Amino acid sequence: MSVQKEIDVVTDYGDLAVTNGISVFDEKFDGMFYYDGDDLGVTYTPKQTSFKLWAPTASEASVMIYDSWDGALVESKPMVRDVRGTWVLTVSGDCNHWYYTYGVKVGSQWNEAIDPYARAVGVNGDRAVVIDLRSTDPQRWTEDRPSLAAPVDAIIYELHVKDLSIHPQSGSSYPGKFLGLSESGTTGPEGIPTGLDYISGLGVTHVQLLPIYDYATESVDETKLELPQYNWGYDPKNYNVPEGSYATDPYMPKLRIKELKQTIQALHDRDIRVIMDVVYNHVYDGYLINFTKLVPGYYLRYKEDRTFSNGSFCGNECASERAMMSKFIVDSVVYWAQEYHMDGFRFDLMGLMDIATMNEIRRRLDEIDPSIIMIGEGWMMNTVLPEAKRANQRNADRLPRIGQFNDDFRDAVKGDIFEYELKGFISLGRSFEAKVKRGIAGGIKYEGAIAQYATEPDQTVNYVECHDNHTLWDKIVLSTDGHTEEEQRSMHRLASAMILTSQGIPFIHAGQEFMRTKQGVGNSFKSSIEINWMDWQRCEERQSDVLYMCSLIKLRQSHSAFRLRTAREIREHLHFEQAPDHAVAYTLRNHAGGDSDRHLYVLYNANPEPITLELPELGDWEVRFGSEDVFFLKQHQLQVQGVGMIVLAIS
Ligand code: CA
Repeated sequence: MSVQKEIDVVTDYGDLAVTNGISVFDEKFDGMFYYDGDDLGVTYTPKQTSFKLWAPTASEASVMIYDSWDGALVESKPMVRDVRGTWVLTVSGDCNHWYYTYGVKVGSQWNEAIDPYARAVGVNGDRAVVIDLRSTDPQRWTEDRPSLAAPVDAIIYELHVKDLSIHPQSGSSYPGKFLGLSESGTTGPEGIPTGLDYISGLGVTHVQLLPIYDYATESVDETKLELPQYNWGYDPKNYNVPEGSYATDPYMPKLRIKELKQTIQALHDRDIRVIMDVVYNHVYDGYLINFTKLVPGYYLRYKEDRTFSNGSFCGNECASERAMMSKFIVDSVVYWAQEYHMDGFRFDLMGLMDIATMNEIRRRLDEIDPSIIMIGEGWMMNTVLPEAKRANQRNADRLPRIGQFNDDFRDAVKGDIFEYELKGFISLGRSFEAKVKRGIAGGIKYEGAIAQYATEPDQTVNYVECHDNHTLWDKIVLSTDGHTEEEQRSMHRLASAMILTSQGIPFIHAGQEFMRTKQGVGNSFKSSIEINWMDWQRCEERQSDVLYMCSLIKLRQSHSAFRLRTAREIREHLHFEQAPDHAVAYTLRNHAGGDSDRHLYVLYNANPEPITLELPELGDWEVRFGSEDVFFLKQHQLQVQGVGMIVLAIS
C-alpha cells in the first residue's frame, strides 16, 4: 500500500455510493455520521483489545499489525463496518506492545494512516502502539493538583523542555529531556541553582511547556538524536502522544509517557502546576496527516476553490467547527488533563478555532477541575471560518474564563514587535500612557476609553516576552540606540514590573528574569541550540536581576490588590492618579484582603530625569518597593529619580 503525497480532494474524497450520496463537504455529513462514543482508538485489556475507527467514506478498512516500528507487515485484519461511519475489530488475547496502523480504501485507493486517537507510538510516530496505560504510571503518581484559588493568582513561566537543561553548565543528568525538568539539586556556574530548583526558587505558580506532543520528523528526527537538532514543535503529528526526542529512549513507546508523567509529578511536588501548549489549529502537513488519509476533505478547512484555507501560515487549518474535529479536540484536551494531570492549556492561534469548541472544552475541564486554566492567542486572523464563530478578542464576551494574550498592552509597554526600532512606554516612546492604563486595568471596560476586549480580568494575559519574536532584552537593544546598558536594564526591569503588578494573569518567558538574549534572532523556532538555550552563565552574571524578578513575584503574591478577581472590584478599587508624560500612576484603594496594606500607590516611571508627584491624601505613605529611586517622600509629595517602578503603601 502506498500513500500518494497529494490527495485530490475533489475526486478522491470517497465513493458517494458509500455515503448515500452525501459528500464530506455537505452540511448533512455531520448529521449522518457524527459519532459520540468514547471508544475511538484502542480499548485495551489483557484479555482482549478493541480497535474503533471513524472513516465514513471508506469502503473497506483494516488494522495492519507490525512487529516493530520499522518491521514488515505481520497481518492485515479486516475491520467490520459499524454505526455512523465507524469500523471495529476486536482481537482476543494480550495485544500489549503491538504496532499497528489503519488501512482504508477510499474511492479506488488504499491509504495507510496512524490512528488519530493513538496514545503510544514507535520512534518518529509513524506507527501506533497498543499499550497498557496503567503500566506507564510512575511509582509516585498523586491525584492532587497544587491549589489555585483564582486564575489571576497564577504566575506563568513559559519554557521549552530542551532550553532548560541543554546548556553545558546546566548541571543536568538529562540534558534536553523531560527528566531534565524533574531533577533536584542541579547547580550551574558558581553553584547557582539550575533546572527545577531554580524555577521553584523564583516563586512562579505554573510552568507552561512549549509543544510536548509528538511533532513532525521533519523538525526533529527521533532516530538521529546524536545530531544537533532543535525545533519549538508547532507542527503536530500525533496529538495524544508525547514527543519522542524528549524521552531518554524514543524507541521504547512507554518510556516517553512515563517520563513525562514523572516530570509533571516532580513539578506538582514543588507546588508548581503545568500548562500544556496545544496546537489544534493546524497540522504538520495537510496531505500526509492521518486525518486526510482517513477521511479526505473532512478535518481541514478549504476555500471555495478547494485549496486549503491557511490562516495559520503553516499550510492548512483544522476545521474545529466540524463535529468530529471538534470532538477530537475536546477528547484530546480531556485526555491530557485526566491521564497526565495537566493543569492548564494554552491554545496556539486560538483565533482560528471556533467558539463552540472552546466553550465545550471549558465545560468538560470544569467537570474535572474548574481550576484548570485556559489561555490562548485570540488574534484576528484570515480564515474561511465566519467572523462570528472565531474564538478571538472581538468575541471575548462569548468566551468566559478563557484568557487571551494582550498584544496591545505588550506593544504599548515595549514597542511594536514587528517594527524593531520603534520605542514603547519604557523607552520614552510617545503617547502610550492611555494604552498602558488599559493594560493595568486588566483589559476590562473600566471607564470611557480605558476599555479593551475583556469582560473579566481572568480573560487577559499580560506579557512583554514569550517564545515568539525578540526577547524583551533584544527588543530594547534594537530600539534604544545610544542608551547605556544600565539604562536598558532599568527599562527591562520596569517592563517586568508592569506585568507583575497589572490586573489579569501575568506571564513571563523563561530567562526573562536574567534578561535573556537570542543574539537578535527574532524567530528562533529552528535556530541553533546555542541561540535558544537558557544560558546559565548569563544567569549567574545577572543574579541581581533574578532577585529583582523574585521580589516582583513576592510583591504580587503578598498583595491581593494586584490580583482583583472581578471587573467590578477593579472599577471599585483602581484609581488613576496624576502623573507627567512617560509616567503612569494609580492607587488601589481600600483593598486589604490578604494583607495589611489598605492603600497602594503604584508609579511606573520611564523618565530618566527627576519628577515630582502629588500623592492622594489618604494618610502617611511608606515605600514598599523601589526605595533606591525615591529621592524624597514627605506628606503628599513624592520625588523620584530614575526609570523604574515604585510602590507606596498605607497600612
Ligand atoms: Ca516526533
